[in-house]
Amino acid sequence: MVSKTSKNMQNLRRKAIEKLGGKCVRCGISDERVLCFDHVNSDGHTERKEVNSAVYHRKLYQQIIAGERDDIQLLCANCNQIKALEKREWEKISNK
Ligand SMILES: [Zn+2]
Repeated sequence: MVSKTSKNMQNLRRKAIEKLGGKCVRCGISDERVLCFDHVNSDGHTERKEVNSAVYHRKLYQQIIAGERDDIQLLCANCNQIKALEKREWEKISNK
């Protein structure tokens, strides 16, 4: 059973995805089931602790829809993983 709240969240998420162009910025896949919201600067330290809360997501979606977030991009699960791996490689190099 889908509650009204999660239905609203799905709608918000879909609108936020549309607002950001509706596809992965790297490979262009437009299947919203694999798309996720990525911090361009990949830092997110200040927000990370809230990331798993519904309140955080609702606020994030609303800000994106309102055009208030230019630091969020769409990545698919694959590209998100690749970006994380590249970042790790980069940190390995820079720590030498
Ligand atoms: Zn992708």
